[in-house]
Amino acid sequence: MLKKEIEKKYSELRITMDKLGFVVTGSVIKQYKACGNPNCQCRKDKSRLHGPYNIWTRKVNSKTVTRTLTDEQAVLAQKFIDNMRKLEKMVEQMKDLSVQYIEYHGKNFRVDKNSQKL
Ligand SMILES: [Zn+2]
Repeated sequence: MLKKEIEKKYSELRITMDKLGFVVTGSVIKQYKACGNPNCQCRKDKSRLHGPYNIWTRKVNSKTVTRTLTDEQAVLAQKFIDNMRKLEKMVEQMKDLSVQYIEYHGKNFRVDKNSQKL
C-alpha cells in the first residue's frame, strides 16, 4: 500500500470511530430462572420457570459481573456491545496501518500486504 493510501484509510477509520456511540463489554442473554420459594411451581416444572430475564455478563478487573436488565436496557447494552466489537476491529486495523506506516518509512517501496504484524 502507498503512504497516501495508508493515511487515507487511517483517516477514514478515525471518522467512522468518531461516529461510534457508547461501548461496553460482555454479552446479554435471555434466561429463565427458578425463584427462592421452595413451594413455587418453578421448582417442579421447568416450563414454569420465571422470566425471561435479560442477563448481562461482563468482566471487571478479571471478575465476572452480572446484572439483570430491563428490556430497554438490554437493547442498549446489545447495541453498545456491537459498537465495542466494531471499535476493537477498527483498533486492530489502525494498528496494522500504523505498522505499515512505520515500515513505509524504512523502505522506499510498497509495503508488502502480507508482512508480519507486530
Ligand atoms: Zn418460582
